[in-house]
Amino acid sequence: MSKYAQVIVDIAHSQVDKIFEYSCPDETQAGCRVKVPFGGRIIDGFVTGVSRVSAYPAEKVKPIYEIVDEAPALIPECLELTESIAKRYRVPKAVALRLFLPSEMRLGKVRELFRRYAVYTGAEVKLSASAKKQAEALSFLKERGEYDYTSLCDEFGRGAVNSLVTKGAIVLDKRKISRNPFGGLPSSSEKKILTPAQQSALDEIESSDKTVHLIHGVTGSGKTEIYLSVIAREIERGRSAIFLVPEISLTPQMLSQLRSRFGGAAAILHSGLSAGEKFDEWWRLRSGEAKIAIGARSAVFAPLENIGAIIIDEEHDGSYISESAPRYSTVEIAKMRAEYNGAKLVLGSATPSVETYVKAARGKYGLITLTERINKKPLPEIIIADMRKEVKRGNNTAFSQALRAELDETLKCGNQAIIFLNRRGYSRTVMCRDCGYVAKCENCDVTLTYHSEENCLKCHYCGAKYHMLTSCPECGGRHVLYNGTGTQKVVADLKSLFPSARILRMDNDTVSGKDGHYNILKKFAAKEADILVGTQMIAKGHDFPSVTLVGILDADMSLHFSDYRSGERTFQLITQVSGRSGRAGEAGKVVLQTCSPENYILRFACAYDYKGFFENEISLRKATGFPPYSLICRVMVTSENSEKALDVLKSVYLSIDRLRVQSPDEFIFFNKMHSPIKKIQGKLRYQVLMRLASGRLLEKIYEIAVNNTTSDCLVYVEENPANLS
Ligand code: ADP
Ligand code: ZN
Repeated sequence: MSKYAQVIVDIAHSQVDKIFEYSCPDETQAGCRVKVPFGGRIIDGFVTGVSRVSAYPAEKVKPIYEIVDEAPALIPECLELTESIAKRYRVPKAVALRLFLPSEMRLGKVRELFRRYAVYTGAEVKLSASAKKQAEALSFLKERGEYDYTSLCDEFGRGAVNSLVTKGAIVLDKRKISRNPFGGLPSSSEKKILTPAQQSALDEIESSDKTVHLIHGVTGSGKTEIYLSVIAREIERGRSAIFLVPEISLTPQMLSQLRSRFGGAAAILHSGLSAGEKFDEWWRLRSGEAKIAIGARSAVFAPLENIGAIIIDEEHDGSYISESAPRYSTVEIAKMRAEYNGAKLVLGSATPSVETYVKAARGKYGLITLTERINKKPLPEIIIADMRKEVKRGNNTAFSQALRAELDETLKCGNQAIIFLNRRGYSRTVMCRDCGYVAKCENCDVTLTYHSEENCLKCHYCGAKYHMLTSCPECGGRHVLYNGTGTQKVVADLKSLFPSARILRMDNDTVSGKDGHYNILKKFAAKEADILVGTQMIAKGHDFPSVTLVGILDADMSLHFSDYRSGERTFQLITQVSGRSGRAGEAGKVVLQTCSPENYILRFACAYDYKGFFENEISLRKATGFPPYSLICRVMVTSENSEKALDVLKSVYLSIDRLRVQSPDEFIFFNKMHSPIKKIQGKLRYQVLMRLASGRLLEKIYEIAVNNTTSDCLVYVEENPANLS
């Protein structure tokens, strides 16, 4: 014990958010996980540094209890980033550090799978005549050279085997067994010859001195091939790479494409993996066996050194903002890592977020625009169907005449169609036509959804189930009306309109378990169905060559959502969904059903005019003072106890108000209120909502949140939250 380790203890509490010192053995290294005595218990810790001298008197410094890792689990970069993240998002260092370690590993739920082999050394050893078992074991092993240690012990007794180890006749060799999660995946797709547009994109990323590049390319313009080429180039140089996609895009096609392209050099982290598999993939990255980390948001924390490129596909996707503490932005973390490593950060999308595009347009990011699909395939024609006219015509199905005609044509030609809608369940709300009563969840204050399979009402926020109503509990009226269309009604309508069509349905209700989602997609790709009906889940990333028609049933749904980004979201959704049509041989079509056909967002989307949309949107944001011309900041106060919540809310509000008095120009909007959803899982939700001119006061606002958090009342900050529910 001649060294001292600086240790962060694995407790998510601001009161122990300091560095503690322990004495440690010589071999202790920074980045290792350790167990240390703390407050009368033994707990996990992380070594952030080691030194020869201690800052404390010898009798005050306790020795560490155990070194968990032989080699450091945490790389030096991670120790540095932990500091920045802890500071930026005001979380204890332990919480920031946890981002870098898969939870399976941290909690010791999964141990590395080792098999120990007993290896015959050939060393001369003297065995006493009575040590029969030892002699037998030795001659057994001599014949074979090596044998599984546990089996050897079973056969000859642990004592005998261990004496042979002590005497040096046997050495034990620990070998890792890697669970291979990709055993069953077929390999496909070879490396393609880049088109001139792809090649020049690649060259530009290479030659530019900017760190961040945005590839704005229409769907099917071959962005994926550019990403893969950027990655391949960095691997050839001996560097590593991170490739981030929304979880939903990690389709079987995508996985097998990546596997066949990079083989064992890629570690793919996705939700379908078991805890053990995740753990192994993580170690393959950490040990350098795998050099490419592929996965959703959290893969940005992959334990890779010497990163050459980080790719973020579908950069506009809401899933890149973390929904639990720390509420980090993946792009922001990726930027930190790119800067640390001198790497390139490539963002890609057919519909970049307004906030990203403005940076590219102003030259802060490099901008690469791909306007054509591969092989100059035309983008699908988008036909607008005015649903107001359909209702007047007496058409009460979910399908307009135009969509019916196109479906008919598609099925006749033996092609496939995708029907997209924005909801789930049979029909959305249960509302009394006589008094206007709407059925809501008792815990969550959100409208319940009727599910016909179980004939019950469900809360989509907490999962509570309620009996279906036969009459109104308020006025006794018998006309309980269901408005809106759900996937089941659509499927029912389709079946009666096209009795011979084979229909698949995909939404949160039909997709369960690790493979549900893959299986449906696999069936559809194998043309085992003619029509796929689904929600957001089918909007992204899939490449079905036979799909020539996409129907968007309720484009208005997202348009009238109470969020400043609803226009942007609608544009993105229409573009993404339309991109599923006509990807291979034949030209595709899209039928977009709406009750507001004159809406400018829909018009830009139909014309594939992103620039037009952007110009319009950015001037609107400027006029109304929304991001990027401001920062929306919400401080949430949640507690089961309403009195406490209100007390804390008041204190938070007053503290922020003091900031406002000092810098009135920073505050464009400022108020305290109930959250739109007043209660989730029994917790009351209050908020202080503000629009700030800049991020100048953020640090202080985070501090106010931390200082007001108590054991029974949680206060946290959200920056430009993906939704304000
Ligand atoms: P995006 O990601 O921009 O939507 P993809 O990368 O999916 O586009 O490419 C669209 C289609 O074009 C895919 O089927 C892909 O295999 C094909 N493709 C991409 N690049 C090439 C190329 N250089 N040569 C031939 N086919 C290509
Ligand atoms: Zn609920």
